[in-house]
Amino acid sequence: MEREHVKCLIVGGGPAGYTAAIYASRAALNPVLYEGMEPGGQLTTTTMIENFPGFPGGVDANKLMADMRSQASMLGADIRHGSISSVNLDVRPFELTVDNGSTVLADALIIATGATAKYLGLPSEKKFRGLGVSACATCDGFFYRRKVVAVVGGGDTACEEATYLAGLCKKVYMIVRRDVLRASVAMQERVLNTENIEILWNCNTKEVLGDESGVTGARLERKDGEVFDIPIDGFFLAIGHHPVSELVSAWVETDAEGYIITRDGSSRTNIEGVFAAGDVQDPHYRQAVNAAASGCRAALDAEKYLKK
Ligand code: NDP
Repeated sequence: MEREHVKCLIVGGGPAGYTAAIYASRAALNPVLYEGMEPGGQLTTTTMIENFPGFPGGVDANKLMADMRSQASMLGADIRHGSISSVNLDVRPFELTVDNGSTVLADALIIATGATAKYLGLPSEKKFRGLGVSACATCDGFFYRRKVVAVVGGGDTACEEATYLAGLCKKVYMIVRRDVLRASVAMQERVLNTENIEILWNCNTKEVLGDESGVTGARLERKDGEVFDIPIDGFFLAIGHHPVSELVSAWVETDAEGYIITRDGSSRTNIEGVFAAGDVQDPHYRQAVNAAASGCRAALDAEKYLKK
């Protein structure tokens, strides 16, 4: 099987990975980037992005990612389809196995594998993803102006997203599975004091309802057994995110949720020569522009490390 040695290997094809590849290429690190199963990352699950600086008219999310990819490629990055299936970070250079069975040895490694939003796991939720089902109010809320939407979850994210959506939408339902919110008191108060948010306590979603035009409602079941439908245009999930750090978590320090811990405001991890960028190390901000910026940091840190 093929075995090659590279200076800088980047794992992950989202804004963090592509930006790291842009900077690493310009620093003559000849980076190789494996895009994983979802080239473009989480952004490709949305449509228009209106908050990425530099695009006053908004930009199609898939186009933005394709452009970042081709920019990295034009600057010399070797961008490959495929996933890294296992790593050995005990050896130097690091040893990585690609899903086609080949081995890559890398002097520096940038982990930019991102995070995935948690979904409920309903087939109807999957069917309407991008057609009214979204896990990012900041990305997609704007398309529901003066409409009726629901947010699932009772944590800080759900409260923040419900409050954000309440500023745009006619009405926001919060579907909360218990009779309390998990969110901080301040966030709870904001929600409770917002007139057009209605909390549906003790409710679980049984089905997302819709037709060929997209989401039209949700079927809920209350703890007492009552099943009822609500008419909605958008269904937002806010039940948490899951960082994709399993590949390296046997070596690289993570927090209790699995987010990679980076040191002193840098992209450095506890393993010298391993850097992390983007949502896999960011439980808070989770925006493309932050991911891109942290990809830049990781490439600069890798360059410094390789020069030593
Ligand atoms: P959390 O894990 O805090 O909350 C998840 C919410 O989703 C809970 O209400 C949970 O219910 C609910 N939930 C989970 N699974 C299901 C399910 N299958 N069906 C229905 N409901 C479900 O995640 P967040 O993303 O809200 O927050 C993550 C972290 O980020 C937290 O530490 C939070 O404080 C922080 N954060 C802080 C912000 C801020 O300070 N401005 C903003 C956003 C996040 P239950 O309570 O019953 O488990």
